[in-house]
Amino acid sequence: MSLQQSPYILYSDGKGNIFEDTSLYVTGRSGWDAVPVPYDEWIELPHGGQLYELPGRRGIGIDVKTGDMRLCEKGWAVAGFIPPAHTGLYLAAYETSADAPTLPLFCYTAAGWYDNKFFVPAVRIERDVRQDCEGYDQKKVESGVKRIIKAYPNNRLVSHLATNCALTYQCPAARNYFLDRWECPVPSSPACNANCVGCISLQPGEEPIVSTQDRLTFKPTAEEIVEFTVPHLEEAPYPIISFGQGCEGEPLLMWETIREAITEIRKHTQKGSININTNGSKPDAVKALCEAGLNSIRVSTNSARREVYMPYYRPNNYDFDDIIESLKVVRKYNGWTSINYFVFPGMTDSIAEYESLRKLIKDTDLRMIQWRNFNIDPDWYLGKIGVTDTGECMGVKQLMHEIHEEFPDLKFGYFNPSIERIKGNYEMDFAH
Ligand code: SF4
Repeated sequence: MSLQQSPYILYSDGKGNIFEDTSLYVTGRSGWDAVPVPYDEWIELPHGGQLYELPGRRGIGIDVKTGDMRLCEKGWAVAGFIPPAHTGLYLAAYETSADAPTLPLFCYTAAGWYDNKFFVPAVRIERDVRQDCEGYDQKKVESGVKRIIKAYPNNRLVSHLATNCALTYQCPAARNYFLDRWECPVPSSPACNANCVGCISLQPGEEPIVSTQDRLTFKPTAEEIVEFTVPHLEEAPYPIISFGQGCEGEPLLMWETIREAITEIRKHTQKGSININTNGSKPDAVKALCEAGLNSIRVSTNSARREVYMPYYRPNNYDFDDIIESLKVVRKYNGWTSINYFVFPGMTDSIAEYESLRKLIKDTDLRMIQWRNFNIDPDWYLGKIGVTDTGECMGVKQLMHEIHEEFPDLKFGYFNPSIERIKGNYEMDFAH
């Protein structure tokens, strides 16, 4: 149900306390601009969402009496971190002081207060509940860790998934593995052939922020991979194993080991989906993995435009065309293809991006867009890729509508689909 007015702006006292200012309606951010948010694009902050205070930043609001835009001088700006399965439609709008610290690698969606509730401009884009926070019982995760570590005492990868991923980083995918369900992560690569500005597993020392997790430090063997993934594919509901995780570099740099593992896995079971999350840099390696039995690929990108992709990924020895070719290769083997599309309001919904996205979908016969929130400081990102003017924009929700109208068979979501969904009737949540 659409709101009948804008929510009020939020501010913090810098000590973790958040207040509403009813003299100002909250605005949203698109590119470098603060803009009013349409009433029907606000939803209540979903369960599992959080609020962040933004040091050195003043929120931009609309005066409820005059209608003029002005800063909220009462405290620091506030943003919403929306949980997985939801896509943010506008960033938090604020003015940044010269000495403000760079924000860590999280997403900063607009957030407001109305009728005793917090609101964010967002849509639930994915019906799958695999990472809904209500579904996690940490006690059960811990007992699963104990049981599985005992079952694979010498497996370095299982120990990494247990100690680092499930118990330290609280990774939703790793916790699902120790709960014997759905998508199991299989990190494998300590190295990468890209240098993403917002890399979540490795940030160079000279950068002002740290990575959200540490990169894997060893190369697992095919035996270590096969040992725990075959039982998962055999026994878990809607089983998927996914190479390419946030705690590693680029899995395609380990393609020979992954090929050996897939070949061995498929000798033991035909169940489930074998997926790779990747930067898509090596189409030849992707071809070899398809021949071994890879079922699906998810290629990450911040844009369908080369000139926006290259300054962000800063690739070593590969090019934007290679990621396009990797998507085409998997379709030639009738595999499932997704892009892990980092949504940045003001960039993703620009007319230039829309045209390039249409071309990418057509050229690659793409099957799915995973509309992911871009976890990065907006000012830092636009500064790093050299964008001063984002051009004409249509709004993220309108972009989703246009793409859905033109490509009705293209699926929208947030997670890699199970083989049951790939082969079954794939219903979507997105109501255009
Ligand atoms: S492709 Fe992944 S691991 Fe490599 S630099 Fe980018 S985010 Fe980091």
